[in-house]
Amino acid sequence: MSRPADIPGDGRPDLAALVERVSAARAAVEARGETFYQGASRIYLAAFPPKERWDDWVELSSRAWPAREEHHYMLVPTTCFNCESACGLLAYVDRGTRQVRKFEGNPEHPGSRGRNCAKGPATLNQVTDPDRVLYPMKRAGRRGGGLWERVTWDEALDAIAARLRTALTEARHNEIMVHLGRPSEDGYTERVLASWGVDGHNSHTNVCSSGGRTGFQFWMGIDRPSPDYANAKVIYLISAHLEAGHYFNPHAQRITQARGNGAKVIVLDTRLSNTATHADYWLSPQPGSEAAMNLAIASYLIRTGRYDAEFVRRWWNWEQYLTGCRPDLPPTFGAFQDALGELYAEFTFEYAAAESGIGAAVLAEVAEVVAGAGTRFACHSWRSAAAGNLGGWQVSRTLFLISALLGAVATEGGTFPSVWNKFVPRPIHTPPHPGVWQDLSWPLEFPLAQNELSFLLPHFLKAGRGRLDTYFTRVYNPVWTNPDGLSWMEVLTDEEQIGCYIALTPTWNESAYFADYVLPMGHGSERHDTHSYEQYDGQWIGFRQPVLRAARERLGEDITDTRQVNPGEVWEENEWWIELSWRIDPDGSMGIRQYHESRARPGSKLTVDEYYGWMFENSVPGLPERAAAEGLTPLAWMRRYGAFEIASGQGGLHEREVPEEELRDVAIGPAGQAYTAAPVPASTNIVPMAAPGPDSEGRRLAGVMVDGIIRRGFPTPSGRLEFWSSTLADWGWPEHALPGYIKSHVHPSALAPDQMVLLSTFRLPTQIHTRSANSKWLDEVSHTNPVWIHPTDAARLRIARTGDLIRVETDIGYLVAKAWITEGIRPGVVACSHHMGRWKLTGHSQVSAGGMMATVDLHHDGDGWAMHATGRVKPYRSADPDTARFWWSDTGVHQNLTFPVHPDPISGMHCWHQAVRVRPAAPGDTHGDIAVDTVRAREVYEQWMTLTRPAGHVSPDGTRRPRWLMRPLKPSAAASALPADGPGGGPAA
Ligand code: SF4
Repeated sequence: MSRPADIPGDGRPDLAALVERVSAARAAVEARGETFYQGASRIYLAAFPPKERWDDWVELSSRAWPAREEHHYMLVPTTCFNCESACGLLAYVDRGTRQVRKFEGNPEHPGSRGRNCAKGPATLNQVTDPDRVLYPMKRAGRRGGGLWERVTWDEALDAIAARLRTALTEARHNEIMVHLGRPSEDGYTERVLASWGVDGHNSHTNVCSSGGRTGFQFWMGIDRPSPDYANAKVIYLISAHLEAGHYFNPHAQRITQARGNGAKVIVLDTRLSNTATHADYWLSPQPGSEAAMNLAIASYLIRTGRYDAEFVRRWWNWEQYLTGCRPDLPPTFGAFQDALGELYAEFTFEYAAAESGIGAAVLAEVAEVVAGAGTRFACHSWRSAAAGNLGGWQVSRTLFLISALLGAVATEGGTFPSVWNKFVPRPIHTPPHPGVWQDLSWPLEFPLAQNELSFLLPHFLKAGRGRLDTYFTRVYNPVWTNPDGLSWMEVLTDEEQIGCYIALTPTWNESAYFADYVLPMGHGSERHDTHSYEQYDGQWIGFRQPVLRAARERLGEDITDTRQVNPGEVWEENEWWIELSWRIDPDGSMGIRQYHESRARPGSKLTVDEYYGWMFENSVPGLPERAAAEGLTPLAWMRRYGAFEIASGQGGLHEREVPEEELRDVAIGPAGQAYTAAPVPASTNIVPMAAPGPDSEGRRLAGVMVDGIIRRGFPTPSGRLEFWSSTLADWGWPEHALPGYIKSHVHPSALAPDQMVLLSTFRLPTQIHTRSANSKWLDEVSHTNPVWIHPTDAARLRIARTGDLIRVETDIGYLVAKAWITEGIRPGVVACSHHMGRWKLTGHSQVSAGGMMATVDLHHDGDGWAMHATGRVKPYRSADPDTARFWWSDTGVHQNLTFPVHPDPISGMHCWHQAVRVRPAAPGDTHGDIAVDTVRAREVYEQWMTLTRPAGHVSPDGTRRPRWLMRPLKPSAAASALPADGPGGGPAA
């Protein structure tokens, strides 16, 4: 091959000549008014491949350089599965080998706009992981014994379907449960369960985000915020949202955009996160004091009159507050303003300083910056403090108080309710909600819980409050993820309590070891899902798809089953659930099959092509027209581009007048609620008012009367923003009905003199929760989780150096970790990332998982469980030569095993922060050692349960839970009524 002109005789490129040549060529092309592309693909390296050329995209081989060897790719979109953001990915499918060579960003995706974090491209590691689960496996010995045999999909499906059919025909619906880790789809699994008549949806949300959600839910009737970061003047973050938080990459790039425009960033994080290093104000408070800081800022806005009084007058339910709490005052806005000032007068900067440890002058300065934001104040609180503390849900409720005072709600640069910035299409079939109520997930002690009390399941099973015949986990690892994981292990190994455990997972994990079946499911490039997430003022829908299927279909092949293109016998859940449902109800007599049947070909199974084809054709506004303009069906268009923007720049939907056609036989409620007899319009991208429910005449809530006009409002019982929550007041918690401050279980007054606070919730930006052990690139970057400790604490505790082993003692045991002595953490507080400490059991020779799992001995010695590493990560030979290059051995420590459960009595959130004692390791301790007493764990569980106020004592209307609160499945009215007996049931006291 001849040498290019830019390559002189010594083989090294003459970069100056190359740049000059490219510049000249570019100038010539631009002079002709054309787009310039460099090299084989004629494009700048800093730009994206234009979509017109995705069928045959050409790049030069970097390995062959200086020879110009061309690679020809087909670029196929999908979406990332490695966090909830669902960023767009482009799979580079080699046209010769028909294998994926790499993943990069999809520039056609409106949320991620072509960008990804490190975890997106690392999808390639997951796909090519030599240790992944490739075939259906069934246990061959005792459960948890480590012996497995390969079975066919037919064998697994028939056996599981038979169990489910028997349970359903024997009316044991509540013995079936599907527990989701990474959902990353909008409602598919819920509909499967509804088609079975089962209230068996369980989620991980109460160990994740329900504390954050609860505070927003009681304000807006919607449980998430959607900050318009890009247009904000002030960005206020509680947690590391720029670097590793919620909607990491889509949010981070918009925060960065705002900073470029001069926005100020305020970060409340006890730990110096990467986000905090980019902040204008990093506030490192005493854990649990965040709500007090928010209230001090709110109090400042109120007493200085720096709030949007007209917004408050029009949109807060202040009249309800006066009626419910201050009947002594005249029902005027002026009287409310006076009352508001009195309510928060105690939250001075000095008070917040005493609680948080942040100086009063600093708080005053921050408050002034916030006040100057006006309606361009964007805020977020998600895990972090809201997930760490008893009463943590008040962190997000007090944060949104600031937004609501500033009128920065659904404004440019403000914070929107999430569902206005997302879109959920109607599916082809919608089964009715179930006629049963699952007490194991929605127990009566927690009538206001935002999500399922998933992490209490082992204790409920041990207490005999139910049993599970068939328990599925889907991309979920309860032993490793939850607190008190060894109590999980105890019930998973007890066939009396869980009859059959089926792990649907792409990878081996700490829970799958105890399964009866391990069934291989696809990664983000091997499965179908649709999703839409709030990331800016707009609505989009993304399409995850098996990229090799799409590529081969583009080349003219007819693919009818995703297993035809996936490695081994890896499947996807959509096709699996359809097949399983047919085998449960083969003749349709149980009423299940109809929801998994083709409409186009009655009597035949629904295919994913028909499922998504119908959805895109019939319930995504604008997509059919857009596709038709290119001569494509909507499905073909989505397969080609991967995402579609339905709307942008919608602004505040609450202000929109409700159209005349939606108003029929209108009745106005006591808070101005407008009830209508007209049905919900069939096609709208405006989320209907949520479920405060029909009035006594069966009308639905359509909007709220504001100054004589019926506007869309908010989906709360009052139709307005609920400063005062009648729901909290009516359901037994009147003292917390207003945004307020609940002192944490780790408040200094609750700690013994020798205790510290352990922050255990923080994320690393390069780790996926339970699937990173199968990603060599991510493991190489991050493979340890030392305990952050301030130098003053280290000196006090005689911890001499970073790397020294320490014991961290919790209420139920201890962990042995390495110390990291750093000023990036507040004195009196220690912190440890939750990502590390992956393990596999000694003797499980058939099981393997990547570069981050230690081999451990786990045994019960009479006093409790003890875990000790018997093998570390080391290089090994596999189909991937890189596994022989592993240079690290550290895997960190699995801290969650040593935490007892701490259910918040209102939100149901597990309160993650721990009161701990830290000391140098004892002789014989080794890194990663764990000791846990599950008897003591049960005692702590029982202590926290005494904080609850069960529905049987507080329900104002004989129901188990306020009907208007969100719930994935909404059981029938009969099933939602309080039972006559049972824990927390019975008549109101
Ligand atoms: S932020 Fe990263 S992990 Fe999350 S979806 Fe985007 S690329 Fe994937």
